[in-house]
Amino acid sequence: MMELSRLKARAMVLEEYDAPLRLRELEVELPPDAIVVEILAAGVCGSDLHMWRGRDPRAVPPLVLGHEAVGRIISLPCQKRDLLGAPLTEGDLVLWNRALSCGACQACVLWKQPALCQSRWTYGINPPKEKGLLQGGYATHILLRQETEFFKLQADVDLAAIVVASCSGATAAHALDLVTIRPGQTVLVQDSGPLGLFAVALAAGRGARVLLIGSGQRRLELAKKLGAEQVFDHRQTTVDERRQIILGDFAGVDAVVEGTGRPNAVAEGLELLRVGGTYLVAGFGDPAGGLELDCYLLARRQIRLQGVWTSDASHLAQAMAIVNKQPQIIKQMVTEYPLAAADQALLAMEKRQIIKAVLRPQL
Ligand SMILES: [Zn+2]
Ligand SMILES: [Zn+2]
Repeated sequence: MMELSRLKARAMVLEEYDAPLRLRELEVELPPDAIVVEILAAGVCGSDLHMWRGRDPRAVPPLVLGHEAVGRIISLPCQKRDLLGAPLTEGDLVLWNRALSCGACQACVLWKQPALCQSRWTYGINPPKEKGLLQGGYATHILLRQETEFFKLQADVDLAAIVVASCSGATAAHALDLVTIRPGQTVLVQDSGPLGLFAVALAAGRGARVLLIGSGQRRLELAKKLGAEQVFDHRQTTVDERRQIILGDFAGVDAVVEGTGRPNAVAEGLELLRVGGTYLVAGFGDPAGGLELDCYLLARRQIRLQGVWTSDASHLAQAMAIVNKQPQIIKQMVTEYPLAAADQALLAMEKRQIIKAVLRPQL
């Protein structure tokens, strides 16, 4: 094992909401039990934007953002296996579950829903402050807890593609795990960002006919490549036009995966469900308001309204399988930036100039 007691790292630190991240050189005393990973790619999530802007109550400065990352283990002070049983060693490439749950409470043990654990915390969002700053992905290194759940990666994996599975991909898998999709049923995805695009691939993989409402030609083309039968540009079609086609040509849909975080999308999607359908609310990572519900519509069509909160390692495994099946298509979502350009990456995501930013500290 590598004898490492001090570590020099660089990190982009959120010191103040709505202000540029600060590039900091950090020299830290290593806790003897920390697993040290050199970060090779870190995803910029849509929810990072909300944290940066101060709209997510979980994220409190000073903080290194970034809950999606892959890297190389450079110090492993314990015996550790990945979730598939492979022994881990220094030098291995790994991706890890972004959150830690307690493993001992009702949600973790009795319900088998670690995403609902009240003690759950997430690297890059709300890690324990006393463990220092190097607990987020926007950095050259991250210090991981020994309980972290790992997947060992093949040496030839495309790091910028596989990292996209970490959050939005896993959350899409969680959404689809909360509904039974039978082959031939129809699933509508409302979102052409990473979450929506993963939802398309996952629903198509379950044998569903998939429709998508989104915007941006590149995104809509990617949705088709991942299995969408028909896509609707929400800027070029009206709610009425879409309703006519979806209720007319398709006779409604059996499930909707919402990934936009916009209440008016929920209002539109609920009306497109067939009797017995399920509406999956997966895009609300921060408080974004509500809507007036037609309760009679819910009752008359016996609609299930299902919230989706984050994900666990089983969902991450499903998202990784989607990437491993078609890495070159998933990679088309990605625009790469050096670490110091994290602000530009966040702004480009906010302005929807790109689909997904990935920071590469080695660039
Ligand atoms: Zn995220
Ligand atoms: Zn728990």
